[in-house]
Amino acid sequence: MKIKKAIASVIAAVFCLTMITGTASAHPTEINAGKFTNSSKLDILIRIHPTAITSSLLTYNDVYKYGTDWNGISSNVKINIREDTTGMPTIASEGLVCGEDLGEGYFGKTSYYRANGTQVYGFMDYDYVIISINSDPNAFDGARDKKEAARKTYLHEIGHALKLTHPITLNYDDHIYNGLPYAVMNQKKPIVDGEWISPTITPHDKQCLIEKWGA
Ligand SMILES: [Zn+2]
Ligand SMILES: [Zn+2]
Repeated sequence: MKIKKAIASVIAAVFCLTMITGTASAHPTEINAGKFTNSSKLDILIRIHPTAITSSLLTYNDVYKYGTDWNGISSNVKINIREDTTGMPTIASEGLVCGEDLGEGYFGKTSYYRANGTQVYGFMDYDYVIISINSDPNAFDGARDKKEAARKTYLHEIGHALKLTHPITLNYDDHIYNGLPYAVMNQKKPIVDGEWISPTITPHDKQCLIEKWGA
């Protein structure tokens, strides 16, 4: 009898696990429309401008090299990172990361452009992006770890460059924190502001990337 009960609970656990992975919903409201360089594939060179490397906090090794963490999720998305000293991108297939004093309470922002230099909305077709990281030395104060928070901001902004948007409060199975998922695409600094704010790319972020660009 006892053994039967144990077997039953193991089966229940396995079933539960299948339920969790099996019913993971697509989240089309958390991605933006629009093609990159008129293609549904994305192969982007992201150049790290010297203005983005401003202090012992915003360094290539602690922050920027992690941009390639977005690789290996969708076969249609390839991120290349390079430190660069040249100016603004003038050709398609490029991204530029700059340091900018965005003031208190802001961490980073992403702007989308067409090849002719026209800025466009996040849901439109685009040819390059400019990411600004807040260069205010106090921007990441109050975070559990300032470098982690800066890296999270950068990964989050690249997520925007890849057309991911902020998770919204919904009754999806994996939106378990008062309707929000554990995701790098949540806003604010990790940990201090909420346990749902991930410093790294999570299964929810990956799911949205695949939703946008394919597996
Ligand atoms: Zn979601
Ligand atoms: Zn954001």
